[in-house]
Parts: sequence; C-alpha cells; structure tokens
Amino acid sequence: MDMVILGTGDAFSAKHFGSSAVVLGSGGHVLIDAPDALMRAFAHASERSGVNIGPATINDILLTHLHGDHANGLEAFGFWRWLEWRRIGHPLPRLHTTSQVAERLWQRLAPSMDQGGTATLADYFELRVLPKTATAHIAGLAVQHRMGRHTVPACGFRISDGKRTLGWSGDTTWDAGHVEWLSTADFIVHETSPAPAHTPVEYLNALPPELRAKMGLVHMPDDFDVSSTSIRLLKDGEFITI
Ligand SMILES: [Zn+2]
Repeated sequence: MDMVILGTGDAFSAKHFGSSAVVLGSGGHVLIDAPDALMRAFAHASERSGVNIGPATINDILLTHLHGDHANGLEAFGFWRWLEWRRIGHPLPRLHTTSQVAERLWQRLAPSMDQGGTATLADYFELRVLPKTATAHIAGLAVQHRMGRHTVPACGFRISDGKRTLGWSGDTTWDAGHVEWLSTADFIVHETSPAPAHTPVEYLNALPPELRAKMGLVHMPDDFDVSSTSIRLLKDGEFITI
C-alpha cells in the first residue's frame, strides 16, 4: 500500500504544510485531512513524489476533526469540485467523518459556502458518516476509526488494503489505548506536539522499539528538536510504501 505525505507541520507552521496525506487505494486516491494551502500542498507533493495528486483525482476524503489546520482546505476543494460538477457533471467527492464532526461540519462551512442561503453541504460533498464500530469500505480500502483525546472530537484511522495496514493517530493527547489500537498496523503515522492537546514526543520515545521502528512522526512544531527522538520524521511530499 502506497501513500504520499502532503504535510508534516503543526497549526502554526511557517515552514511546512499541515499534517495530511493521500493514500493510493486500488479504487482511487483518499485524502486524509484538508489543511490550509491544500492546492499548493498537492502541487508540492506531486512534484516531490511523482504521483499526480489533485482535486480532480481525489474522490474520497477522510476528515479527523474540524480544527483549521485539518479542515480549512475543504472550502477550496469543495468550490473546485462544485465548479467541475457544474461544468462537466463531474461527481462530487465523498467526505467520510465521524458523527460528531458531521453534525457541525456545515455550521463551520456555511458562512463562506452557502451562497446566500441557496447552497447546502450536499452541493459540495457527499457526506458519509463513518459507522461507529463497523468497517467502512472506501476506494478499495477497509477503514476503521477510533476517537482520540483532543480539545474537540477527533479520530484516528486504521486503513487496510487487505495486505498492509496504515495507522493514523489524528490529533490526540497521549493516549496509551489509542497507540495500542494503532499498534496492529504495519506503519503508524503519529502526531507529536506539546501537551495538553497533543502527544509530547517523550511518550512515543518510551514505546517498545518494535513499535517505534514502524512509526513516522507528523504535526511537529517548527522548532522541534530533531535530536530529541530516534523515531522517523516524515517529510512534506514523501512517498511511502507500507
Ligand atoms: Zn487539532
């Protein structure tokens, strides 16, 4: 299973795109989160990875939570696809998220996207609420989610193509149960940033070596001390085979 990391920065980064990725499923590209400057992140990652990534080729979006550094890109993506739908009838993208996020998603987007009260969320995205416990099947991938511990409802994912599994922590403070849930994956992308909203790297450094060996970090502050951990630091635009 292949993926391209779009960004590795935190909410305040002046150097990196926001933490997000595209998983290359057998049934299409699946975007995990939509940070600021999403179109530029697509262009950057396409150039770095050699994979053509963009709003035309992504038909499924997994959204962990509504913080801007994970959701601000939805507006540009939504408008881009709305215009394509009007122009050539290109089907709308599916947006998969938890019931907690789904309930408030339009409340967040409407002030800039309701077009004077004439448009609704369904004009931009086909909303799919992830089943609470069952597995969702998205672009040839089996997707499960688990709520992390964050300042707003946020989830992580286990994404499998039947052979290999990616674990994605989403934003979470240190949560041993969350890491245990992710530990069945073949590769884990974990966030790190200061407490209390995020997971300080010291907790991840204390994990068993076999777990650290299959882990890559995102959501790092710009002043992150690269010598503070032996866990792999992921890079914007990096192509990864799991
Ligand atoms: Zn967050």
